[in-house]
Amino acid sequence: MPTSSTIAIVGSGPIGSAYARVLLEAVPTAHVVMFEAGPQLTAIAGESVRNIADPAEKDRARELSQGPQAGSFRESLGIPPSAVIEGMFTARGGTHLLDFGGEGSAHAASFPAAAASTNVGGMGAHWTCATPSPSFSERVPFITDDEWDGLIADASRLLHVQNAAFADSGVGAAIRSLLAEEFAGELPDGFGPGTLPVSGDPQPDGSMRWAGADVVLGPLIDPDSALSARFELRDLSLVRRIDHTDGRVVGVTVEDLRNNEVYSVTAALVVVAADAFRSPQLLWASGIRPHALGHYLTEHPVVISTVALDADSMGRFATDDQLADELERRSANPADPVAAVNRIPFSEPAHPFSLQVMYAENPPFQLDPDHPAAGNRWGYVNMGYGMRKQPRYEDAVTFDDHEPDYRGFPNMTISYELTEPEQGEIAEATGRLRRAGEALGSFIAEPRLLPNGSSLHYQGTMRMGDADDGTSVADPYSRVWGYENLVVGGNALIPTATTMNPTLMSVAIAVRGARKAAERLNEGDENA
Ligand code: FAD
Repeated sequence: MPTSSTIAIVGSGPIGSAYARVLLEAVPTAHVVMFEAGPQLTAIAGESVRNIADPAEKDRARELSQGPQAGSFRESLGIPPSAVIEGMFTARGGTHLLDFGGEGSAHAASFPAAAASTNVGGMGAHWTCATPSPSFSERVPFITDDEWDGLIADASRLLHVQNAAFADSGVGAAIRSLLAEEFAGELPDGFGPGTLPVSGDPQPDGSMRWAGADVVLGPLIDPDSALSARFELRDLSLVRRIDHTDGRVVGVTVEDLRNNEVYSVTAALVVVAADAFRSPQLLWASGIRPHALGHYLTEHPVVISTVALDADSMGRFATDDQLADELERRSANPADPVAAVNRIPFSEPAHPFSLQVMYAENPPFQLDPDHPAAGNRWGYVNMGYGMRKQPRYEDAVTFDDHEPDYRGFPNMTISYELTEPEQGEIAEATGRLRRAGEALGSFIAEPRLLPNGSSLHYQGTMRMGDADDGTSVADPYSRVWGYENLVVGGNALIPTATTMNPTLMSVAIAVRGARKAAERLNEGDENA
């Protein structure tokens, strides 16, 4: 690429941010313009709202993310606060339902909890920051293990992943010991109960500064870095169309939501990272319609429960002093729902599930003061199993050219069904959740399957593949088949059935796609 070229990135979540960072670091002449439909919430672009100490300010930031923000059309499409269980796998504050029931709402009766965030940093401003790595068949089959391990290491650096977060918590260690006792001998070496990696920076007071798109952008939003001069983030800027001709993208058409002005930007490369529903919708609206677009939708079904920790059982592995230490640490930051996070990871063949176990000193919902477990001194755990959903063409988001949604895009209909393989694994995981709960204490919320869409981890709708055979949207380097300079990113690329939180995996895939695109740009390939 001999002269300065513009790269347009659609979406400012962790994935769009990873593309911006890798491309700007690797291509000396590039200028990145990132378009984000939602508003900037925090002074530092893309920072996690979990880091906002003032509860009213935090609520405001969440509300601002819950729907379109343009002029008089500012409204909340969010989930009522009463339905919010913070820190667990369910639709939460900071998101808005796609099927919200109003005019221009998506149709998603079989996937009712489908949600999105519309703000600088995307869902990455609201996420729980759990960053496990995919393993066994969760990985992308055509990327070698060696390459994959390197990509995960790079993605971990971009996301500030801590592999041993809360490892010094005595309460967390006791929970792991009880789970190890229960499941001993059933799990392969290295895949037993452990701490869950999380994305953030531990602070001297024992709290965590949670990571968002801000840490991925890093030097791009640091005015002292030379890279920041080549990066521009435009919030409240809705990309309406990807402009293309003869299999080559030429730029994007953007609406400035502050004044509804529409303008075009010419770009040498366009990256679409606008989530697993709105990215395929934008491609569709732009007349880019590979056979698999929107299809093969998966998430991991989730069964959850809440357990009051049993004093005698916990007391076998942790002392009263350790409990007191934990409670003291928690009291330093009571607004942060994430503490002592443990897990049992996916392994094959015997344990094709991911268990996430989050300690909290209070239950995530109002517990009747007369309940025998109310005020439980040892606290509680919120636990959830993630299970597989096998990809099928029939599970899809489709788009209707004749029915505009509330933004004027072809409206979405989601069709989704859990079939026999899923039902079997859901029943098995529910049984395991019951065992885990009984090993730790007593249930104050029985295991239950959450409505489809509750995981917030939507995958497959722009899946990557190693052949242009109609079952994938993107090539192994995330380029849309047939479009030399159109790259897509996000959980939608994941082609496999996974059980874990997917963001680290999607950042790893993005690093691979960005490096390849950078190579082409540096070679001066007109069709980068
Ligand atoms: P997003 O973060 O969704 O960002 C996409 C952005 O694109 C949005 O800001 C959107 O406004 C913008 N956009 C859409 N259309 C357009 C357009 N036409 N023009 C301009 N901009 C557009 N994942 C994990 O791995 N671990 C977790 O613990 C975890 N916990 C979560 C907890 C919560 C409460 C939530 C909400 C999510 C959680 N996730 C978790 C999911 C995680 O946040 C997502 O996987 C991640 O943010 C995906 O990144 P992304 O950049 O692909 O998309």
